[in-house]
Amino acid sequence: MKVKFAPISLRSARRLLRARSLLAVLLAFALVLAGAGVGRRPAGPAEDALALALLGKVIVIDAGHGGFDPGAVGVTGTLEKDVNLAVSRRVAALLRQVGASVVETRTEDAALAAAKRDDIRRRVAIAEEAGADLFVTIQANSIPQPQYRGGQVFYAAGSAEGQGLSESIQRSLASVLQNTDRQAKSIQNIYVVNALAIPAVVVEVGFLSNPEEERLLADSAYQQLAAYAVFLGIIGYYADQPVAGF
Ligand SMILES: [Zn+2]
Repeated sequence: MKVKFAPISLRSARRLLRARSLLAVLLAFALVLAGAGVGRRPAGPAEDALALALLGKVIVIDAGHGGFDPGAVGVTGTLEKDVNLAVSRRVAALLRQVGASVVETRTEDAALAAAKRDDIRRRVAIAEEAGADLFVTIQANSIPQPQYRGGQVFYAAGSAEGQGLSESIQRSLASVLQNTDRQAKSIQNIYVVNALAIPAVVVEVGFLSNPEEERLLADSAYQQLAAYAVFLGIIGYYADQPVAGF
Protein backbone atom coordinates (compact mmCIF):
# COMPACT_ATOMS: atom_id res chain seq x y z
CA MET A 1 0.00 0.00 0.00
CA LYS A 2 1.19 3.49 -0.80
CA VAL A 3 0.32 6.20 1.65
CA LYS A 4 0.32 9.75 0.42
CA PHE A 5 0.52 12.87 2.49
CA ALA A 6 -1.15 16.15 1.73
CA PRO A 7 1.19 19.15 1.51
CA ILE A 8 1.19 21.15 4.72
CA SER A 9 1.05 24.89 5.12
CA LEU A 10 4.17 26.71 6.27
CA ARG A 11 2.31 28.18 9.21
CA SER A 12 1.14 24.82 10.44
CA ALA A 13 4.63 23.37 9.94
CA ARG A 14 6.24 26.21 11.90
CA ARG A 15 3.77 25.82 14.71
CA LEU A 16 4.44 22.10 14.87
CA LEU A 17 8.19 22.50 14.80
CA ARG A 18 8.09 25.02 17.63
CA ALA A 19 6.11 22.64 19.78
CA ARG A 20 8.36 21.15 22.44
CA SER A 21 6.20 18.08 22.35
CA LEU A 22 6.81 17.44 18.67
CA LEU A 23 8.84 14.32 19.28
CA ALA A 24 6.21 12.96 21.64
CA VAL A 25 3.52 13.67 19.07
CA LEU A 26 5.53 11.94 16.34
CA LEU A 27 6.20 8.92 18.46
CA ALA A 28 2.59 8.68 19.56
CA PHE A 29 1.47 8.90 15.97
CA ALA A 30 4.00 6.30 14.86
CA LEU A 31 2.73 4.05 17.63
CA VAL A 32 -0.83 4.42 16.38
CA LEU A 33 0.27 3.75 12.80
CA ALA A 34 2.26 0.67 13.63
CA GLY A 35 -0.28 -0.63 16.12
CA ALA A 36 -3.13 -0.22 13.65
CA GLY A 37 -1.14 -1.87 10.88
CA VAL A 38 -1.99 1.23 8.86
CA GLY A 39 -5.13 -0.02 7.19
CA ARG A 40 -6.15 3.51 6.27
CA ARG A 41 -4.74 6.98 6.29
CA PRO A 42 -5.48 8.96 9.44
CA ALA A 43 -5.39 12.74 9.13
CA GLY A 44 -4.10 15.43 11.45
CA PRO A 45 -1.16 17.61 12.42
CA ALA A 46 0.93 14.71 13.71
CA GLU A 47 0.73 13.07 10.33
CA ASP A 48 1.86 16.28 8.67
CA ALA A 49 4.79 16.61 11.08
CA LEU A 50 5.86 13.04 10.52
CA ALA A 51 5.70 13.48 6.76
CA LEU A 52 7.79 16.65 7.11
CA ALA A 53 10.44 14.86 9.14
CA LEU A 54 10.80 12.13 6.51
CA LEU A 55 10.16 14.24 3.44
CA GLY A 56 12.60 13.44 0.64
CA LYS A 57 14.77 11.23 2.84
CA VAL A 58 16.30 8.19 1.19
CA ILE A 59 16.87 5.47 3.75
CA VAL A 60 18.73 2.26 2.98
CA ILE A 61 17.64 -0.77 4.98
CA ASP A 62 20.22 -3.51 4.65
CA ALA A 63 19.31 -7.06 5.66
CA GLY A 64 22.67 -8.54 6.61
CA HIS A 65 23.97 -11.74 4.98
CA GLY A 66 21.78 -13.87 2.66
CA GLY A 67 22.08 -16.74 0.21
CA PHE A 68 25.30 -18.73 0.69
CA ASP A 69 26.11 -16.63 3.75
CA PRO A 70 23.78 -17.53 6.66
CA GLY A 71 25.51 -15.28 9.22
CA ALA A 72 25.20 -16.54 12.79
CA VAL A 73 23.34 -19.77 13.50
CA GLY A 74 21.21 -20.04 16.64
CA VAL A 75 21.41 -22.90 19.11
CA THR A 76 18.33 -24.55 17.57
CA GLY A 77 19.30 -23.68 14.02
CA THR A 78 17.72 -20.26 13.40
CA LEU A 79 19.69 -18.53 10.67
CA GLU A 80 20.68 -14.92 11.14
CA LYS A 81 20.07 -14.12 7.46
CA ASP A 82 16.38 -15.07 7.86
CA VAL A 83 15.90 -12.98 11.01
CA ASN A 84 17.66 -10.03 9.38
CA LEU A 85 15.49 -10.22 6.28
CA ALA A 86 12.22 -10.56 8.21
CA VAL A 87 13.00 -7.59 10.46
CA SER A 88 14.39 -5.47 7.61
CA ARG A 89 11.35 -5.97 5.39
CA ARG A 90 9.14 -4.84 8.26
CA VAL A 91 11.27 -1.76 8.99
CA ALA A 92 11.10 -0.83 5.30
CA ALA A 93 7.32 -1.25 5.23
CA LEU A 94 6.85 0.93 8.32
CA LEU A 95 9.06 3.69 6.92
CA ARG A 96 7.25 3.67 3.58
CA GLN A 97 3.94 4.05 5.37
CA VAL A 98 5.07 7.40 6.74
CA GLY A 99 6.41 8.71 3.47
CA ALA A 100 10.11 7.82 3.47
CA SER A 101 11.83 6.68 0.30
CA VAL A 102 13.29 3.30 1.22
CA VAL A 103 15.87 1.25 -0.63
CA GLU A 104 16.26 -2.37 0.46
CA THR A 105 19.57 -4.03 -0.40
CA ARG A 106 17.80 -7.38 -0.64
CA THR A 107 14.20 -8.55 -0.46
CA GLU A 108 14.82 -12.29 -0.67
CA ASP A 109 17.23 -14.94 0.53
CA ALA A 110 20.08 -14.14 -1.82
CA ALA A 111 23.58 -12.74 -1.52
CA LEU A 112 24.46 -9.67 -3.56
CA ALA A 113 27.62 -11.21 -5.01
CA ALA A 114 29.36 -14.56 -5.20
CA ALA A 115 32.08 -13.56 -2.75
CA LYS A 116 31.53 -12.09 0.70
CA ARG A 117 33.86 -9.16 0.07
CA ASP A 118 32.00 -8.17 -3.10
CA ASP A 119 28.65 -8.66 -1.36
CA ILE A 120 29.58 -6.12 1.32
CA ARG A 121 30.90 -3.65 -1.25
CA ARG A 122 27.71 -3.97 -3.25
CA ARG A 123 25.66 -2.94 -0.20
CA VAL A 124 27.72 0.24 0.15
CA ALA A 125 27.49 0.89 -3.60
CA ILE A 126 23.69 0.59 -3.48
CA ALA A 127 23.57 3.32 -0.81
CA GLU A 128 25.93 5.56 -2.80
CA GLU A 129 24.06 5.06 -6.07
CA ALA A 130 20.75 5.84 -4.36
CA GLY A 131 22.13 9.08 -2.91
CA ALA A 132 21.05 7.76 0.48
CA ASP A 133 20.70 9.96 3.57
CA LEU A 134 20.86 7.12 6.04
CA PHE A 135 22.08 3.51 6.09
CA VAL A 136 20.83 0.97 8.62
CA THR A 137 22.04 -2.61 8.52
CA ILE A 138 20.01 -5.14 10.46
CA GLN A 139 21.97 -7.98 12.05
CA ALA A 140 21.69 -10.50 14.87
CA ASN A 141 24.52 -11.29 17.25
CA SER A 142 26.13 -14.50 18.41
CA ILE A 143 28.84 -15.12 20.97
CA PRO A 144 30.09 -18.21 22.78
CA GLN A 145 28.48 -17.25 26.11
CA PRO A 146 24.74 -18.08 25.95
CA GLN A 147 23.65 -15.80 28.80
CA TYR A 148 24.00 -12.52 26.96
CA ARG A 149 20.97 -11.00 25.28
CA GLY A 150 19.46 -7.71 24.12
CA GLY A 151 19.76 -5.38 21.17
CA GLN A 152 22.68 -3.06 20.59
CA VAL A 153 23.45 -0.41 18.00
CA PHE A 154 26.91 0.45 16.66
CA TYR A 155 28.25 3.45 14.74
CA ALA A 156 31.56 4.45 13.19
CA ALA A 157 33.90 6.06 15.72
CA GLY A 158 33.99 9.82 15.20
CA SER A 159 30.60 10.11 13.48
CA ALA A 160 28.43 12.44 15.56
CA GLU A 161 25.43 11.81 13.31
CA GLY A 162 25.96 8.06 13.45
CA GLN A 163 26.15 8.35 17.22
CA GLY A 164 22.90 10.35 17.35
CA LEU A 165 21.11 7.83 15.18
CA SER A 166 22.53 4.92 17.18
CA GLU A 167 21.48 6.41 20.48
CA SER A 168 17.98 7.08 19.20
CA ILE A 169 17.56 3.49 17.98
CA GLN A 170 19.14 2.12 21.16
CA ARG A 171 16.67 4.08 23.34
CA SER A 172 13.84 2.80 21.22
CA LEU A 173 15.01 -0.84 21.45
CA ALA A 174 15.23 -0.50 25.22
CA SER A 175 11.75 1.00 25.58
CA VAL A 176 9.94 -1.20 23.05
CA LEU A 177 11.62 -4.56 23.65
CA GLN A 178 12.22 -3.92 27.38
CA ASN A 179 15.09 -6.37 27.43
CA THR A 180 18.27 -4.37 27.38
CA ASP A 181 20.17 -1.68 29.21
CA ARG A 182 22.94 -1.81 26.63
CA GLN A 183 24.26 1.48 25.27
CA ALA A 184 24.97 2.46 21.68
CA LYS A 185 28.67 1.98 21.01
CA SER A 186 31.25 3.17 18.52
CA ILE A 187 32.97 0.46 16.53
CA GLN A 188 36.09 0.23 14.40
CA ASN A 189 36.71 -1.74 11.25
CA ILE A 190 33.15 -2.43 10.15
CA TYR A 191 33.31 -1.75 6.44
CA VAL A 192 29.69 -0.81 5.82
CA VAL A 193 29.60 1.92 8.46
CA ASN A 194 33.12 3.21 7.82
CA ALA A 195 32.88 3.34 4.03
CA LEU A 196 29.83 5.60 3.91
CA ALA A 197 29.88 9.36 4.46
CA ILE A 198 26.23 9.36 5.58
CA PRO A 199 25.07 8.29 9.06
CA ALA A 200 25.37 4.50 8.99
CA VAL A 201 24.65 2.13 11.84
CA VAL A 202 24.64 -1.57 12.65
CA VAL A 203 21.57 -2.71 14.57
CA GLU A 204 22.14 -6.02 16.32
CA VAL A 205 18.55 -6.89 17.21
CA GLY A 206 19.51 -9.58 19.71
CA PHE A 207 21.61 -12.66 20.40
CA LEU A 208 20.94 -15.91 18.56
CA SER A 209 23.36 -17.50 21.03
CA ASN A 210 20.80 -16.96 23.82
CA PRO A 211 18.16 -19.75 23.56
CA GLU A 212 15.26 -17.59 24.76
CA GLU A 213 16.20 -14.71 22.49
CA GLU A 214 16.68 -17.05 19.56
CA ARG A 215 13.11 -18.26 20.03
CA LEU A 216 11.88 -14.66 20.12
CA LEU A 217 13.90 -13.57 17.08
CA ALA A 218 12.36 -16.40 15.04
CA ASP A 219 8.84 -15.31 16.05
CA SER A 220 7.03 -13.04 13.59
CA ALA A 221 5.28 -10.98 16.29
CA TYR A 222 8.61 -10.27 17.96
CA GLN A 223 10.19 -9.48 14.58
CA GLN A 224 7.47 -6.89 14.08
CA LEU A 225 8.16 -5.42 17.51
CA ALA A 226 11.90 -5.26 16.82
CA ALA A 227 11.23 -3.63 13.45
CA TYR A 228 8.92 -1.15 15.09
CA ALA A 229 11.64 -0.25 17.60
CA VAL A 230 14.14 0.43 14.79
CA PHE A 231 11.51 2.44 12.90
CA LEU A 232 10.76 4.58 15.96
CA GLY A 233 14.46 5.14 16.51
CA ILE A 234 14.87 6.44 12.95
CA ILE A 235 11.81 8.69 13.30
CA GLY A 236 13.15 9.98 16.62
CA TYR A 237 16.50 10.81 15.03
CA TYR A 238 14.86 12.86 12.27
CA ALA A 239 12.47 14.55 14.66
CA ASP A 240 15.52 15.90 16.52
CA GLN A 241 17.08 17.34 13.35
CA PRO A 242 16.69 21.03 12.51
CA VAL A 243 14.63 21.54 9.36
CA ALA A 244 16.08 23.89 6.74
CA GLY A 245 14.26 27.20 6.49
CA PHE A 246 12.82 27.24 10.02
ZN1 LIG B 1 25.62 -10.52 10.94
